[in-house]
Amino acid sequence: MTLARHGAIVIGAGVAGLSAALYLQRAGVAVAVIDPLPPAGGASFGNAGLLSPDTAVPIALPGMLRKVPGWLLDPLGPLSVKPSYFPRALPWLLRWIESGRLHRVMAISDAMRALHKETLTCWKELLGAELYGGLIRQVGQVQVWEGDAESASAVVERQVRERQGIKTEDLTADDLRQMFPGIAREVTRGLLVPGNGYTVSPQRSVRTLGELFRQEGGTLINERAMKLIPQDGGGWMVMTNTANRSSEHVVLAGGAWSRQLLDPLGIRVPLETERGYHAMLFDPEVTPSLPISNKTRAFGVTPMEDGLRIAGTVEIAGLDAAPNEERAKILVGHAKRMFPALKGERVRYWMGFRPSTPDSLPILGPAPGRTGLHFVFGHGHFGMSGGPPSGRLVARLITGQAPGIDPAPYAAQRFR
Ligand SMILES: Cc1cc2nc3c(=O)[nH]c(=O)nc-3n(C[C@H](O)[C@H](O)[C@H](O)COP(=O)(O)OP(=O)(O)OC[C@H]3O[C@@H](n4cnc5c(N)ncnc54)[C@H](O)[C@@H]3O)c2cc1C
Repeated sequence: MTLARHGAIVIGAGVAGLSAALYLQRAGVAVAVIDPLPPAGGASFGNAGLLSPDTAVPIALPGMLRKVPGWLLDPLGPLSVKPSYFPRALPWLLRWIESGRLHRVMAISDAMRALHKETLTCWKELLGAELYGGLIRQVGQVQVWEGDAESASAVVERQVRERQGIKTEDLTADDLRQMFPGIAREVTRGLLVPGNGYTVSPQRSVRTLGELFRQEGGTLINERAMKLIPQDGGGWMVMTNTANRSSEHVVLAGGAWSRQLLDPLGIRVPLETERGYHAMLFDPEVTPSLPISNKTRAFGVTPMEDGLRIAGTVEIAGLDAAPNEERAKILVGHAKRMFPALKGERVRYWMGFRPSTPDSLPILGPAPGRTGLHFVFGHGHFGMSGGPPSGRLVARLITGQAPGIDPAPYAAQRFR
């Protein structure tokens, strides 16, 4: 038997799915969200919490091809590829390298900026001013470097910031010492990006989206979607582990697992997981006043409501390989080098699956040739920033409102 028909079923209760669900519901659509995990059970649980309207630099940058052999040789470097997984990841990696050509980087940065610049506005729309004030700090972010030489990728990053008119302030070693007492001498220069911010708890922020969704009449269904089946008369059946559920629209927001539901439909999207790690220090005894990204060692620290989160690293090893805790431990070593007084007795290590496309842009909007199926996944490193504006864009497209930004750069068709 098929259960009652919903207006829309959203698959996935992460930041992307819940943002889409809330925007759809507020536009008058009856929405159910399906996920075997409670809200914020995926990558949305343990990320670094950076909310970055000014982030417009994709991950793939010119010159990356030269680095591939090194990645394969160093399993604990900032970016590693598991050798046995390399053949599976190769097509994605080739597209990724292709996306790193300078003219592509500039076009991608335009689309990243168009989406991200609305992030704080969307978080405020979703949460309301009071909850927003309790969860989100609009205080800027700092990037730091060790040494004076500007790397080739740092030059491109500067070009992107100039192209996008992003406000920044250079910080000297003395400025950094004043802002962050106890920061090591090796950290020689920095950049303040005042337009950015962060959340004091990614998990609580996304869980709050789930609570608001429920309070406003939405249904959260604790099931796993197993199969998407188009119906003859229009609409979709979502076969879950316990029921068949039908709806006019299906919004796929399954993060890094989204491909599992698309492959059987013959829909191919280049989605790979870039596994990332965090170490959560509950009694750090050093709490910087705002998030710091160490660009030399590719990690970041974020002051959160329950301690200091050290996050970073990229590991290409698929959805099944066991976590490599050494990667998270290395992050703690990096952070202690940056703040020698840091303590790390009570620590939690975590690994999460970034849902990543080769061009750092999410896949948003209607599925090609499949009426009623919509995508909102693939946010990679930037889903806490991109999730809410993506949810709004997709909800607007479904309900026939003006999208506000050009949806074309995010369409699945770009990979054909
Ligand atoms: C270490 C690390 C640091 C990061 N730092 C930042 C940062 O500072 N700022 C930023 O913007 N982003 C950051 N990110 C990226 C960000 O966390 C992700 O882009 C974002 O959380 C993705 O959200 P999502 O909703 O698409 O996926 P997820 O949060 O992973 O949610 C997907 C959900 O879909 C569900 N699901 C999957 N398959 C099914 C199915 N068949 N049926 C039902 N449900 C299903 C899963 O259970 C899961 O709950 C970071 C990521 C990592 C790993």
